[in-house]
Amino acid sequence: MLDHVAQHDPLEACGLLVGKNNWVEEVIFVRNQAQSPERFVMNPYEQLKALDRIESSGLDLIGIFHSHPTGPEIASAPDIAEAAYEAVYLIWSLNEENWKLRGFWIENRRADEVSILIREE
Ligand SMILES: [Zn+2]
Repeated sequence: MLDHVAQHDPLEACGLLVGKNNWVEEVIFVRNQAQSPERFVMNPYEQLKALDRIESSGLDLIGIFHSHPTGPEIASAPDIAEAAYEAVYLIWSLNEENWKLRGFWIENRRADEVSILIREE
């Protein structure tokens, strides 16, 4: 994920996190249709294809990630307004040269931070 978001800097990058029991097993990268440094819109074809694959594999959609190469670290107002899935919204933000990852649960137009555990492989 980090390589992917760094490669797309200065544009926002996005994708889906898939797995079971809140553990991510797979990351699916989706093209940012908006091609913007301040917005992301998942390419609808790739998004549908990914959701189909998730459904047929018996895994769950756990998270949706995107990057904020120009900040902020938290979910933006459009992120909150457009959140449509019951999943953790992960945001990679860039501060000087360091990417930071924070996760949010967005419901009823508010975003609450959730903790993320990264397992060493
Ligand atoms: Zn955002």
